[in-house]
Amino acid sequence: MTAFASESVQAELGFRYDPSDLYQQVIGHVLGSAEILDLPRHLRLIMAQPKNEFIFHFPVKMDDGEYKLYKGYRVQHNNILGPYKGGIRYHEGVGLDHVKALAVLMTMKAALVRLPLGGAKGGVQVDPRAVSQDELMRLTRRFTSAIADNIGPDHDIPAPDVGTNAQIMAWMADTYINFQPGHQRWLGEAVVTGKPLEFGGSYGREKATGQGLVFVLDELLPELGLRFDQTTFSLIGYGNVGSWTARLLQDRGAKLKAVMDHTGAIYNEKGIETLTLAQHVVFKGGVAGFADADPITEDEFYKTQVDLFIPAALEQMIDVQHAKIMNCKVVVEGANAPTTPQGQEVLAERGITVLPAVLCNCGGVTVSYREWKQNRQAETWDAETVDRRLRQHMTAAAGRVKLAVHRYGCDMRTATYCAALEYIGKVYQIRGIFP
Ligand code: NAD
Repeated sequence: MTAFASESVQAELGFRYDPSDLYQQVIGHVLGSAEILDLPRHLRLIMAQPKNEFIFHFPVKMDDGEYKLYKGYRVQHNNILGPYKGGIRYHEGVGLDHVKALAVLMTMKAALVRLPLGGAKGGVQVDPRAVSQDELMRLTRRFTSAIADNIGPDHDIPAPDVGTNAQIMAWMADTYINFQPGHQRWLGEAVVTGKPLEFGGSYGREKATGQGLVFVLDELLPELGLRFDQTTFSLIGYGNVGSWTARLLQDRGAKLKAVMDHTGAIYNEKGIETLTLAQHVVFKGGVAGFADADPITEDEFYKTQVDLFIPAALEQMIDVQHAKIMNCKVVVEGANAPTTPQGQEVLAERGITVLPAVLCNCGGVTVSYREWKQNRQAETWDAETVDRRLRQHMTAAAGRVKLAVHRYGCDMRTATYCAALEYIGKVYQIRGIFP
């Protein structure tokens, strides 16, 4: 019944059925949860399509004097709770349906954590490693000028994601500020979060997503019969989310056994020192060649026996084939949508618990919200204050998900969407639909 209801909404909106499409996978799940909540049909239709989708084509002067035309996106999914919020991705695989899916997840995260923010996502089709720093700066400034009319501290606030970082956020904010009239410039830095500390950034933002994930594990590990100091884990991705998660888990006594990224996979039965690996990645660009571990194949990586398997790279990496060979007790989704619906079915059949991304990685947007708030109040909070607030939010979010599992008798991903949609549904009910 759930699948039918979800498909009928998608059919009404003219979607051509494609089970491999990330957007349809995410929306299918959201609509399934809306069905459990018996949300009104108009709300399901609203959730199933973003409010705004922008595509930009813009030229960038390359170092050799030639021009290249780039394609960028910004998708604003929903703003019933507050200004749109979501990351900017630089990756050669960025496409509209992908960005739409990630924007929906942002709406869900903000609602789950009860932040006064909506959901958005953006990106540029570019391999950031294949361009120089100067080209990256010109591309960022030109992209920002293209989207400048559609973002703003009161309207839509981007942040870092795969392939972008604090420096790129600084270029974005600086470009945006230069478009503002003099008397409004002071607020301009609040247009993006994840900025460097010296330019309106927040303590704790860089590690926020990993820290939030660990706070969620504080709530859920005991129920799964696990203890940090007796836990082993493996990671896909050793960028912002992966490396911080690894370091914070190691601080709690857990042992990193295997890592895979775009350069290869490595393994050490005795444990991989997480900070040393982070430094290696900064200098070498990836985990391959790390001296204190052995290289392994992709298959061997997925088969490595661990307690926690933590995807922290790209979407759809845990498909049916990988789900069949994985050797873990729990999947902790640091990345967005890393598990396909079919992959999740296999994991469920094999008794492997999945802690869903919307809960596990919402620490990033939570501290981004704190950065935005500090910018608007012209204040700087200390690291302890930011951490304390983050923990409060993550504990409350995990509590909402547990309650929804109990109330609706469903898996954690469905429960997470239910906990988010319940709140959005109430706000729509109170506000009504204009006019
Ligand atoms: P990042 O760019 O810092 O790191 C990405 C990592 O993915 C790198 O280690 C890279 O090597 C790896 N990777 C790329 N292609 C790969 C491949 N084919 N196989 C294996 N590894 C590959 O990005 P990030 O900010 O750490 O984001 C990682 C995930 O977390 C994404 O899904 C992102 O949307 C999500 N996320 C990030 C934040 C944040 O605050 N940065 C917040 C919430 C969710």
